[in-house]
Amino acid sequence: MSSPIEYLKGVGPFRADILKKEAGIFTFNDLLQYFPFRHIDRTQITPISKINPETDYVQVKGKITAVEILGENRAKRLVATLYDGTGELELVWFQGINWIEKTLHIGAPFLVFGKAGFFMNSPQITHPEMELLTEANKNAKSFLEPIYPGTEKLKAKSMGGRQMGKLTFTLLQVLSERDVAENIPKDILEKFRLVKRFDAYKNIHFPASQNDYQKAVKRIKFEELFISQLRMGLMRFKRNNFSKGLIFSKVGNLFNDFYNHHLPFELTGAQKRVLKEIRKDVGSGKQMNRLLQGDVGSGKTMVALLAMLIAADNGYQSCFMAPTEILARQHFENLKSMMDGLPAKIGILTGSSTAKEKREILRATLEGDITILTGTHALIEDTVKFKNLGLAIVDEQHRFGVAQRARLWDKNEINPHILVMTATPIPRTLALTAYGDLDYSIMDEMPPGRIPIITVHRMEYLRPQVMNFIKTEIKQGRQAYIIYPLIEESAKLDFEDLMRGYEEVKAYFPEPQYYISMVHGRQKSAEKQTNMNRFVNGDTNIMVSTTVIEVGVNVPNASVMVIESAEKFGLPQLHQLRGRVGRGSQKSYCILSTKVKLSADAKQRLKIMCETNDGFKIAEKDLEIRGPGDVEGTRQSGLLNFKLANIIEDKKILEAARLTAEKIISEDPMLSSSVNSCLRGFLESEKGKTAWSKIS
Ligand code: ADP
Ligand code: MG
Repeated sequence: MSSPIEYLKGVGPFRADILKKEAGIFTFNDLLQYFPFRHIDRTQITPISKINPETDYVQVKGKITAVEILGENRAKRLVATLYDGTGELELVWFQGINWIEKTLHIGAPFLVFGKAGFFMNSPQITHPEMELLTEANKNAKSFLEPIYPGTEKLKAKSMGGRQMGKLTFTLLQVLSERDVAENIPKDILEKFRLVKRFDAYKNIHFPASQNDYQKAVKRIKFEELFISQLRMGLMRFKRNNFSKGLIFSKVGNLFNDFYNHHLPFELTGAQKRVLKEIRKDVGSGKQMNRLLQGDVGSGKTMVALLAMLIAADNGYQSCFMAPTEILARQHFENLKSMMDGLPAKIGILTGSSTAKEKREILRATLEGDITILTGTHALIEDTVKFKNLGLAIVDEQHRFGVAQRARLWDKNEINPHILVMTATPIPRTLALTAYGDLDYSIMDEMPPGRIPIITVHRMEYLRPQVMNFIKTEIKQGRQAYIIYPLIEESAKLDFEDLMRGYEEVKAYFPEPQYYISMVHGRQKSAEKQTNMNRFVNGDTNIMVSTTVIEVGVNVPNASVMVIESAEKFGLPQLHQLRGRVGRGSQKSYCILSTKVKLSADAKQRLKIMCETNDGFKIAEKDLEIRGPGDVEGTRQSGLLNFKLANIIEDKKILEAARLTAEKIISEDPMLSSSVNSCLRGFLESEKGKTAWSKIS
């Protein structure tokens, strides 16, 4: 199976080169795994009289009754007539005329295949596939012909679908059941009535019937999902059992003092539960790798703080990394004020820290004067050294690449515990599939007293009414956000829109009665900060901004959010933005403003937003509309790219595969029993081929 592809009969160095470059086929195995995307039914012979304008591909059997060359120069063509006893079919060639003419003898029997067309009311096939019927092949079994995805380049170099099919056919002649060794234990095959691996790979290419093909598809889908679930499950098992982790054995004074005297509210049930899960992890002696998912506003920051206090009680430092400067500062201010009076120092390091500030922070971090270090990407720089980093928290995980995160854990001899927090709800099925190697916590409960946000959709021409509505809210002491899209591809246009919008808003809300902040990506970070702070402090009534405020910003007094050109945003982003309001105890509103003409998808998104506030429901819908490849936070993981399986359509197979994998791991995690030896062998042979989301 690992033989280089040029060793296959029919593949010389030239073809090998094309296969490698254009299709990523380097070995026999790669070719075997290059699946056809459909089959054409060659089991049927259609009588010529039954061909009609709706007919697609047909196969007919008949004798050549006439051959002639017509036209001149570019119009030159070879035309043959095929008769099958029911009617006449015209066969036409524009290329290879001389060569083909030699093969067409009057009276010769042919099996003809191609896409039927009609010309002057009579059926015709242009460039048909011709097979001369001889004594040898006359009674050969017909079959379902595989159609392969041939990129244009493959085709141009005469390596189109048919040639691929021929190579695969040759390959299957030389492979045996030993080469395509079974990798699923027998009892599982029997339980789910799955066909054997070798048969599945044979039949995915050359099935004798539709039924055989379906069985092959089912088996391969299960295999894909099962193997991926097993791998991730084993990974988690190994970490949970064999990794070395720092032990936070106690809950000490800092935590207790905070909990009893500083906690501004009662924790929600979900917060308590997640905290318990974290405590169990960090006390186990194994490294924690936990993904915490909680909808916007579910109170993840408090969980993070409490976890960091436990680390501190055990003599360890923590770091808390946020994706933007604004958010990092807000976390810093927020944590600092909550910890006021507690004997633990908190610091901040961002790209805009001055050289002097930086020097002092780096020193204090290295010497252990700082207990909690918040910041942005700046935290992962090699110059940032801790005395004893015990816990690294990453907020809003999807903004960071895996590689970036990986640099965090190398900041201590024994890897620190890792908590990744995300407010992008990922549907459970997807989370378990994509992040099956991580432990996973969910905060599915909102702090009490929240009044659901009222979301409405308004066309742009109603803007005056919308502005008046904002005025009434401001009169009651509230603040409002007005958000403009800023999409990279159309950054310049969008920026102009923002500026025009800002002028318009200013006209509705003149000083000194009203004050407006504006924040956008082209401002210097200090300017952003100032404008942001004015809004946070209540000095301005309105915040006009691009999506820079998307993540994390917390202004409980803000009760209205207008999202301009809302049709340009995806569902998760709309939901994230909306989460900026409804953080206080007053009624809050989200107004989705759009142009009149909308695509069907956009309409659907807006409708969903108006219907529900539940991030998980929205994520499910998003998954339905867009498919898994696009879901935020999973795109980079590459873990959802299965060849055949589709985790939405094949939900049932996925669930069966996951449960089966879990059962095996709980019963035989080393795969040492004889029934599981085929699995162990397979995983060992595949080692090094997997891209883990290893915290991740
Ligand atoms: P997110 O999960 O989106 O990061 P935050 O941690 O910013 O949410 O919390 C949102 C708001 O809810 C904050 O103002 C926070 O103080 C408040 N909050 C958090 N937990 C509770 C709770 N248990 N009861 C009441 N308010 C809470
Ligand atoms: Mg947050």
